[in-house]
Amino acid sequence: MKAITVVPKTENSLAYDDVPEPDPSTGSILVEAVAVGVCGTDVEIATGKYGWAPPGRERLVLGHESLGRVLEAPEGSGVAAGDLVAGIVRRPDPVPCPSCAVGEWDMCLNGQYTERGIKEIDGFMSQRWRIEPGYVTKLDPTLGILGVLLEPTTVVAKAWEQVAHMETRAFWQPRTVLVTGAGPIGQLAALLGVQRGLEVHVLDRMETGTKPDLVRALGATYHHGSAHDLPFDPDIVIECTGVGQVISDVITKVGAGGVVCLTGVGSGGRTTGLATADVATELVLQNNVVVGSVNANRRHFYRAAQALERADRDWLGRLVSRRVPPERVQEAFDRGPDDIKVVVEFTGA
Ligand SMILES: [Zn+2]
Repeated sequence: MKAITVVPKTENSLAYDDVPEPDPSTGSILVEAVAVGVCGTDVEIATGKYGWAPPGRERLVLGHESLGRVLEAPEGSGVAAGDLVAGIVRRPDPVPCPSCAVGEWDMCLNGQYTERGIKEIDGFMSQRWRIEPGYVTKLDPTLGILGVLLEPTTVVAKAWEQVAHMETRAFWQPRTVLVTGAGPIGQLAALLGVQRGLEVHVLDRMETGTKPDLVRALGATYHHGSAHDLPFDPDIVIECTGVGQVISDVITKVGAGGVVCLTGVGSGGRTTGLATADVATELVLQNNVVVGSVNANRRHFYRAAQALERADRDWLGRLVSRRVPPERVQEAFDRGPDDIKVVVEFTGA
């Protein structure tokens, strides 16, 4: 069979080549790939900045935003031939740490976890892949190829869960949420905010185009420019850009008793925004919370599947802005300004 592979930490190594069929030891469920989404992490791996091949191997099969159709599954695995499924990305560390021991591998404490398509386990950009029962999520069959949005939705399902945890620390009735960044993660964060009945605002640099159109189609309000210029102080901020200036802006902008959840990571950038001691002043005097959120466990995959099932199919369909066949994978990595989610399409859903 064929797979999209890379040599991690090596530039220009992306290839669509022959690889062996998936080893039965990698899972009793055999799946035919339907589509795999491409995100910023894949771009970092493909450009040699990130990623680890499986031990003893040079190449890694790329891809962690999976969607496939079950070909074979044993009795009791929870799925059957024909089911539309997506695979969980992270596996617990072998020690395991206390978090991994209770199935919260997204909160791994020692960093020895592994991740499909990223860290030491082959990903999902192969014509067929295998997966273990318990690491597969069944999707509403009417989602079709839109099920490829599950993994990015798990990221925001966890972020929203982190925000919800803050409801227990004080009397708190959040009404407004600001999402910074109108890419796929920002759009999906906004979708979950609307589903929670909140007044949702999304901020991005773009003035026109698909991103503002998608936000308005959700019933949310679109803004461009700086968070400082917004006419309200949000109760919740879901930060999806990882840009230093935006992060410092929302830490000062969030309302009293509010929560900023950071989902994006960057590095460096301008350092003139907010001095460290001023961060403390902002947080202490207003009882604010800044919390980071990464990855997702089985519970978040389940909740994300529920959120997608409830979402408008036409709106979800506009998030998948381009489909590229695997033999032209490089085109999926050359993204344009109006691209939201580009996917590699292996077979029709
Ligand atoms: Zn762990």
